[in-house]
Amino acid sequence: MIQIQPELKRVEELRLLLQQASYAYYVLDAPTMEDAVYDQLYRELQQLEIQYPELVSPDSPTQRVGERPATHFTSVRHNIPLYSLENAFNIDELQGWEQRWRRQVPKIDTVEYVSELKIDGSALALTYQNGILVRGATRGDGVMGEDITQNVRTIRSIPLRLNFDGLEPLEKVEVRGEAFLRLDVFKQINEERQKAGEQLFANPRNAAAGTLRQLDSRVVAKRRLDFFGYTLHIPGRDDASIANSQWEGLELLEKMGFHVNPNHKLCSSLAEVAEYYQYWDTERLNLPYMTDGVVVKLNSFKLQEQLGFTQKFPRWAVALKYAAEEAPTRVENIAVNVGRTGALTPLAEMRPVQLAGTTVSRATLHNSDRISQLDIRIGDTVIVRKAGEIIPEVVRVIKELRPPDAQPFIMPTHCPVCSQPVVRESGEAVTRCVNASCAAILKGEIEHWVSRDALDIKGVGEKLVHQLVDKGLVHSVADLYSLTTEKFCVLERMGQKSAEKLVNAIAQSKNQPWSRVLYGLGIRHVGSVNAQLLTEKFTTVEQLERAKQSDIEGVYGIGAEIAQSVYQWFRISANQTLISRLQETGLQLATTEEAKAVGDENQKLAGKTFVVTGTLPTLKRDEAKALIQKAGGKVTDSVSKKTDFLVVGEDAGSKLEKAQALGITQLTEAQLLELLQD
Ligand code: NAD
Repeated sequence: MIQIQPELKRVEELRLLLQQASYAYYVLDAPTMEDAVYDQLYRELQQLEIQYPELVSPDSPTQRVGERPATHFTSVRHNIPLYSLENAFNIDELQGWEQRWRRQVPKIDTVEYVSELKIDGSALALTYQNGILVRGATRGDGVMGEDITQNVRTIRSIPLRLNFDGLEPLEKVEVRGEAFLRLDVFKQINEERQKAGEQLFANPRNAAAGTLRQLDSRVVAKRRLDFFGYTLHIPGRDDASIANSQWEGLELLEKMGFHVNPNHKLCSSLAEVAEYYQYWDTERLNLPYMTDGVVVKLNSFKLQEQLGFTQKFPRWAVALKYAAEEAPTRVENIAVNVGRTGALTPLAEMRPVQLAGTTVSRATLHNSDRISQLDIRIGDTVIVRKAGEIIPEVVRVIKELRPPDAQPFIMPTHCPVCSQPVVRESGEAVTRCVNASCAAILKGEIEHWVSRDALDIKGVGEKLVHQLVDKGLVHSVADLYSLTTEKFCVLERMGQKSAEKLVNAIAQSKNQPWSRVLYGLGIRHVGSVNAQLLTEKFTTVEQLERAKQSDIEGVYGIGAEIAQSVYQWFRISANQTLISRLQETGLQLATTEEAKAVGDENQKLAGKTFVVTGTLPTLKRDEAKALIQKAGGKVTDSVSKKTDFLVVGEDAGSKLEKAQALGITQLTEAQLLELLQD
């Protein structure tokens, strides 16, 4: 026991946290934790319990389905228990599930699966006696639920009397399905709650669960719940005499008058299931209700019966969930990166975690202010988020899981690269190395110069740049143009041919347009879109050099901060020298007609639709719109399923709510600028 002390502690911590979350979720209908986070912590507990079976306890959340609600409704025992579903988070895990069930029935060759959308609502068990609805109950803990018949009667898509036309009348019928709220109804409910000063529902599922457990069924009726039936049981009868399979069961449900989700598919292989799952990964965003995965069920009832149930799940079904955008992981270290502007950026180095389909192990913590705000320490369990193309970020710390030896982060007083003292100017969040000859800054400047959106010099990557700087071959970007094959050949494992290619690639970059050169200079706040805007107005470097700050600010889309940064950059003599040296190399420091055409092709946001809402910290709304449009993006005024990104500022109203309900990716102004500059 002594050896597993740390594991025991973790198990206890996880159990307590999951129990609290589960109570908030199932009993109070007001979750305190993100679902994906709950799922991952649950998995961690499950794995620890598999590894150390002596730690399993009957009250562990892994041993229970849901929670028994503390409620004003009468508790009822389910005629047939309502199980939960085992989760798979990717196709590999789905295959693992298939291998497991196949081991139990080895002789099966051909198999059929029914793929159904996993509706994100609340499960209901309905009992019909001689075709009449006599009971509606919530799932509760799977064995005992609450009798909410009065409320269930208000749901229009639940038949009060079954239609047995053309069918043999059945004495008893049990139907399971999902009560849910359409997204537009959910939004409307929350709007009303906001007006009434009531707490908002976190998501449509909690709103549905909360509504079902309303004491006043008139309120339930007003909330317009909907219902999809997905399981038919005929107790006391061999189900097979009426239906042989899940597919036939769904057909019967429909005949009897239920609303069955039309988006289900009979699949004859897991590959077909995977195709269905991938199709709905994007298509689900166009549905008027929420789905969080696909439920895969073995079609044959005979096979289902052979496989049976574990304590919690049917062995013949699995919920294949969509990739989470948020997940918990442990911070193993906080490193400090020095960028080309000298900014010291703390980076959380984390235990690798799967997010939105990629493995994430680092996330920027931006600066000391952000670290204090998050109160993040080395050893903490944090929630990381990555939505679509957005850079991963730490959302919050799960303080309940903080180990006693968690280490607070202290920003270094000296640059970790050149060891010179760093500075943090008053009013600035960023700490900087101000040593102009710091190797990290120089490396960053050159990497930026050669990058794809700047001078796009192929073959000159991070490693080579580091070697060039470390060997003292370049001290500024201008030095790249005096590199010869002989100089390159000094470097380790550099052959004559490769050296020639590099010299050539560098020479080629002299044809790149003025806008790319300006962007490559790495002036603060000048991303490729701003560089394009500036070079359209100032068609030669001399014009820009001579421009007054107000002239620069006069360019449509260029704000005061950018203008100041550009103006000041040209006042520094080292920068003036750099410009003259670059001019001598023959680089394009003026716009040509040809260059203009190339610039137009550089449309990063082509095909993406944006909506801008609220007050942004620095940009006016029109400026943000102009920047998006310049980069090829479309800007519309209202949020719809077709919106790709919502750029959100302060005091955003209904557009934000709509975007949340539709699951549209939100961007801050900083994230938008990052996208544009990336
Ligand atoms: P589940 O929601 O993962 O899956 C089972 C449920 O899927 C069924 O009960 C049924 O209601 C539903 N379902 C929808 N469509 C279906 C279909 N076509 N066929 C069959 N079933 C269908 O499991 P669960 O046990 O209800 O809940 C566990 C989940 O709840 C966790 O994965 C977690 O995400 C969430 N949870 C979150 C918190 C939190 O704090 N956020 C706490 C507890 C649980």
